[in-house]
Amino acid sequence: MQKATVGNNSGSINWQTLIAVVIFHILAVAALFTFSWQNLAAGVILWWIAGSLGIGLGYHRLLTHRGFKAPRWLERTLAVCGSLAMQSGPITWVTTHRLHHAFTDTDRDPHSPQKGIFWSHMGWILRGTAQNNSEATRKRYSPDLMRDPFLVTLDKYYWVPIVIVSIGLFAAGGFSMVLWGVFLKTIVGWHTTWLVNSATHLWGSRRFDIRDTSTNNALVAALTFGEGWHNNHHAYPRSARHGLRWYEVDVNWIQIKVLEKLGLIKNVYAFELGAAEEEPVELVPIQDAA
Ligand SMILES: [Zn+2]
Ligand SMILES: [Zn+2]
Repeated sequence: MQKATVGNNSGSINWQTLIAVVIFHILAVAALFTFSWQNLAAGVILWWIAGSLGIGLGYHRLLTHRGFKAPRWLERTLAVCGSLAMQSGPITWVTTHRLHHAFTDTDRDPHSPQKGIFWSHMGWILRGTAQNNSEATRKRYSPDLMRDPFLVTLDKYYWVPIVIVSIGLFAAGGFSMVLWGVFLKTIVGWHTTWLVNSATHLWGSRRFDIRDTSTNNALVAALTFGEGWHNNHHAYPRSARHGLRWYEVDVNWIQIKVLEKLGLIKNVYAFELGAAEEEPVELVPIQDAA
């Protein structure tokens, strides 16, 4: 059934995904006609939980790059938050992202910017094969996650947490709150996350002259809680800190520091610019990312 192994071969359209993406967009637009402050609050809070705690801290900086150590309960909690973003389960997401770092800008990059802006933004989800990586690929690129039965189950049933949240929102604020807290927040979360794959491989500045097209982009960073300092990130993938100067605001990094201060996480790995910061530094080969 799963013909894909590694790569971004565009094949036939993933109809199930396409239909879901279209429905989510329609309902997100519908949400705009049902504004209330409570609905807005539900949307913003869930965007932060899913996009920042879930995707930024959980899926990305912890599970993919192991930028810090968290106790198992916290790791699983952040993974559940990540599932609320509706960007697939943790193992699928991490495998795709580790492939992106290992093969950046090549044929084997699941969302290579070389295939055009639409492809790197969302075409790869609609026509690519990355969401169906073979079991062998998942085992090869995410063996650490596959050892946790909780994450394996969550990967399979990643939609369950958002269904439970939807029921809670419906009970609290009716269908319009579901439109805001689930559909509109998911669309905002999707496009802002996808900008990291499209915009920050196209527009912005480059502090590190590394062998890929990654850029630092303040606008994308503002929309993604700090994930837009993408050139810094590609240069030092394991660093839990992406914004390297005071003006490179990195909300996710601030939260990681708070969690560390609270004693909830440890072994935080953070790259710091030296005193003569923009000086050439020894670079970590991008293949070491995973
Ligand atoms: Zn990238
Ligand atoms: Zn990364």
